[in-house]
Amino acid sequence: MAVSNNQRIKMPVQDALVRSHNFNEVSLGLDKEMALREASRCLNCKTPLCVQGCPVNVNIPKFIQFIKEDNIEGAATSLKIDNVLSSICGRVCPQESQCEKYCIRGVKGESVAIGALERYVGDFDLFENRNKDVTKVLPNGKKVAVVGSGPSSLSCASELAMAGFDVTIYEAFHKAGGVLVYGIPEFRLPKDLVQKVIENLMKMGVKFMFNSVIGRTITLEELREDSEAVFIGTGAGLPSFLKIKGENLNGVYSANEYLTRVNLMKAYLADSKTPIQRGKNVVVVGAGNVAMDSARTALRMGADNVYLVYRRGREEMPAREEEIIHAQEEGIQFNLLTNPVEILGENGRVVGMKCIKMELGEPDKSGRRRPLEIVGSEFVFSCDQIIVALGTSPNPLIRKTSEGIDFTNKGTIIANEITGETTLENVYAGGDAVTGAATVILAMGAGKRAAKAIIDKNN
Ligand code: FAD
Ligand code: SF4
Repeated sequence: MAVSNNQRIKMPVQDALVRSHNFNEVSLGLDKEMALREASRCLNCKTPLCVQGCPVNVNIPKFIQFIKEDNIEGAATSLKIDNVLSSICGRVCPQESQCEKYCIRGVKGESVAIGALERYVGDFDLFENRNKDVTKVLPNGKKVAVVGSGPSSLSCASELAMAGFDVTIYEAFHKAGGVLVYGIPEFRLPKDLVQKVIENLMKMGVKFMFNSVIGRTITLEELREDSEAVFIGTGAGLPSFLKIKGENLNGVYSANEYLTRVNLMKAYLADSKTPIQRGKNVVVVGAGNVAMDSARTALRMGADNVYLVYRRGREEMPAREEEIIHAQEEGIQFNLLTNPVEILGENGRVVGMKCIKMELGEPDKSGRRRPLEIVGSEFVFSCDQIIVALGTSPNPLIRKTSEGIDFTNKGTIIANEITGETTLENVYAGGDAVTGAATVILAMGAGKRAAKAIIDKNN
């Protein structure tokens, strides 16, 4: 079928009915012919607005130009200068509100599918690029300890290893990747891909110490004594709760626990040693990426009905547009302008959730219209499982066990926006631990900037 130049090449996806019963990746990626055709839509603008829309200013027209010339290795080399996690960001970045939002092609038609092209090049680089140079560079004899192994830490470690530093990553879990492995489900971000990124880091000489909780197993002070610098990328893994009656009943989970048990502990496998309750009628509270991931996971775990409950409207839903559409296609039932009031139980187990209908009033401080209760509109969902996805904040462990680092009253680390320097000498921080729950690309960018500051200081 002929496609107009105003339309983008559509990414093939698994059929909604089929995919809602499996954990395989939903979006299947572009093939080479599709990537070349999509790349040919890029106008190589003199002032590329897409670059300004990207939080780390990836040189988008440059890597797309390489694709146009059928030089995918060149595209990979170019892309890697700006983003070492392109295969991941191509899948999970909210492109519709970043680079693609500003693409000039979007004025008269559809923007260039920058995310899909980024994914194509990133995958090529990870799995096919025979000329890729993953070699150890000459050591400079200086040590850096990196705390946590999420995207901020991985990008920081990668830059430092390329500059010859002796880098050790200390991770609390038994596996590396942070939210990329325990939060974002397999059907959105295959774990072999994250593993490949980790393996490449290992080949570059980066060491991983698993089951190492900084603040418990080893203190921050001990890390400082043993290295030239420390980078803290501990994320924001502490879940927020509804604070309503019934929240302690069996069958109520934080999204964090639910997703970690399914993704990291593989509770979706029939022979899992750490199984989880498989709800039949599940209510998910929230409307961000975490809520979408929880709802779609519950469906794949065998739920008959998954209800998404959110107190604002469709326009205000913070999740990526693609995830919202995919969730709807799979049959997640959206109950917008609805707020939980009480969780109902019998014999200690959840049997329902009382909710109230909302309407939108005047904008609040965040600029979003404030949801207001409609008096007398209460109703009850019958359900046996509730997953709360209302956001997260940083775990207070490092705050409680370290001296000299200043924190905000929200528990985030105070760090220089450019260099990531904290108030403690030679200690840097970045990612969700500094910004609060945000995005992979912002975390990646922060890790990279901190690495640059560490390199500059130690040269
Ligand atoms: P994290 O990825 O949180 O990693 C922190 C790591 O530090 C963890 O491995 C943790 O175990 C470890 N750690 C914590 N404390 C210690 C300690 N004391 N000692 C040692 N290790 C420690 N963003 C997007 O851009 N797009 C999406 O589609 C998207 N979807 C998401 C879906 C879910 C379910 C979740 C939870 C988040 C999602 N995000 C998404 C947000 C994104 O994943 C985060 O912003 C990003 O991972 C933050 O990276 P980070 O490196 O700061 O920390
Ligand atoms: Fe290409 Fe769009 Fe960027 Fe212009 S704005 S360089 S068309 S991706």
